[in-house]
Amino acid sequence: MAMLEQALAAGIVSEEVPLGPMTTYKAGGNARWFAELGHGTQLQELVGSGLPADLEVLVIGRGSNMVVSDSGFPGLAIKLTGEFADVSVGEGHVRAGSAAPLPRLARQVVEACQTGLEFFVGVPGSVGGAIRQNAGCFGVETADVLIEATVIDLRTGHVSTRAAEDLGLGYRQSNVGAADLVVDAVFQLERGDVEDARSRMKEITRWRKEHQPGGTLNAGSVFKNPEGAAAGEIIDRLGLKGMSVGGVSVSTKHANFFVATQDATATQVAELVAAVKAAVLEATGTKLETEIQFVGFDDEH
Ligand SMILES: Cc1cc2nc3c(=O)[nH]c(=O)nc-3n(C[C@H](O)[C@H](O)[C@H](O)COP(=O)(O)OP(=O)(O)OC[C@H]3O[C@@H](n4cnc5c(N)ncnc54)[C@H](O)[C@@H]3O)c2cc1C
Repeated sequence: MAMLEQALAAGIVSEEVPLGPMTTYKAGGNARWFAELGHGTQLQELVGSGLPADLEVLVIGRGSNMVVSDSGFPGLAIKLTGEFADVSVGEGHVRAGSAAPLPRLARQVVEACQTGLEFFVGVPGSVGGAIRQNAGCFGVETADVLIEATVIDLRTGHVSTRAAEDLGLGYRQSNVGAADLVVDAVFQLERGDVEDARSRMKEITRWRKEHQPGGTLNAGSVFKNPEGAAAGEIIDRLGLKGMSVGGVSVSTKHANFFVATQDATATQVAELVAAVKAAVLEATGTKLETEIQFVGFDDEH
């Protein structure tokens, strides 16, 4: 593709770049083409006139809700960095670049004596990933605090500011599609008690250490919770904690987390997900839906 040839020659795009290290599972193959963009000018240069319709695209945040296939991703993967991780706290709101890590965002807000984003402290993703997935925990989700997001349509290069209500935010979902790139977002803040906010963040961190398999390779909750139930509890009740495929196993600490060894493969993650899903369907009739995003796989998960 002429456009990619030009971007390669300009040094904006590289070929055959491993995506595994950019994900929390640390598994998976290469992106056929890869662009790490740290400035608006680079982004404009690459996508300003839109990307070809037949080029598959993937936006990668902090890779904390994603499994990349061992055969890699056959298209162009884009990762934002540099100025796209900037955070600027104003009075009653904060503007954050889509690459800003959520725990840092939560802390910066509290350091600026404002509150409202403490729940982000334990979610190891980026602002862009949080919007796409409507990330949340402890009864708060991104939709509750988001005012608007700047989104580029990668097919046309068109930039728009979309109000939270127009982003189709639902339980771990949005209408941000594969060819939409969130550039930045504005969140609502409160003038709450900062000491309370600090305690809340400490409590969230403590709770996670106690209940989740911290320090392991995983991508958070594998399955969405079905209506009125917790996926982890269903899996636990079936005695599937510890079930494994190769180097990937159902965490013994939290059954909706599948933990991997350093040498585990993405195929093993996918196989364990399929096996647990099948076991739950057979035993309970419940069809679990995955929360983690499978990238570059032929089969649906
Ligand atoms: C230990 C652990 C705990 C977790 N706890 C929680 C939790 O409590 N609550 C929760 O909701 N999630 C949780 N997660 C999952 C994950 O952190 C969130 O879903 C997070 O929002 C994903 O952000 P990311 O940047 O890592 O996205 P990625 O994994 O990089 O990508 C996820 C999806 O978002 C898209 N995306 C990423 N950036 C952009 C962008 N700039 N523009 C457009 N699309 C983009 C990707 O294309 C992909 O479809 C946890 C994960 C781990 C590993």
